[in-house]
Amino acid sequence: MTAAPPVQVQGLTKRYGETLAVDGVDLIVRPGEVYGFLGPNGAGKTTTLRILTGLIAPTSGRVEVLGGSPGQAQVLARTGSMIESPAFYPYLSGLDNLRLLAEYAEVPRTRVREVLELVDLAGRAKDRFSTYSLGMKQRLGVAAALLKDPELVILDEPTNGLDPAGMRDMRRLIRELGSEGRTVVLSSHLLGEVQQVCDRVGIINGGRMVAEHDVEELRGQQELVIRARPLE
Ligand code: ATP
Repeated sequence: MTAAPPVQVQGLTKRYGETLAVDGVDLIVRPGEVYGFLGPNGAGKTTTLRILTGLIAPTSGRVEVLGGSPGQAQVLARTGSMIESPAFYPYLSGLDNLRLLAEYAEVPRTRVREVLELVDLAGRAKDRFSTYSLGMKQRLGVAAALLKDPELVILDEPTNGLDPAGMRDMRRLIRELGSEGRTVVLSSHLLGEVQQVCDRVGIINGGRMVAEHDVEELRGQQELVIRARPLE
């Protein structure tokens, strides 16, 4: 039996006043794949991911996540996301920040240690958040997203602003999430990055999905020509 796609989107549209941020996007993400949205600034990636996590409502279109609507309690319980830069208490340790979140989410405390191991922060768990590098802060954000052991992980530009070492660690982590069988949906504006971490890539520009590729088809390509379409 084939498992149902964790994400199914048809004709997704989002308007902000005059701006058509997402324009008729169709998307199916398969179970266990790492799916990347690739596109330039303003393409509509964040808006699409915010809709998938239930943070904002679409203007129109059909969106099904893990068999339900985004934002439904039973969907949220099985989804982990990092959409904005995660907010943590700077003077608390990474460990204590996660313990607070675990308590709030009614997750057993033992899970905190597990996720810190997963994101390779166990060695710095007792250090204050304010002493972490940006890459470590972002990985703590992923750790928070993993607390509920989610089937679906949604990450908006998880390597944005990171130095090369931070990028390398984050990409390795994302590949691990995929190899654990989780479905991952992420956004990026770097072709090289999606080539490294994704199984499939949707290219989005001007709010429209302009192409979709298995990552194998993109091997060896140095750049993709994305024709800019002015937003309406
Ligand atoms: P970036 O990498 O810069 O975040 P993106 O691909 O994630 O780009 P979005 O943030 O989804 O793109 O933005 C798509 C379009 O919608 C842009 O033109 C943006 O200015 C506009 N937009 C996004 N959020 C809002 C908002 N809250 N109000 C008005 N316009 C918005």
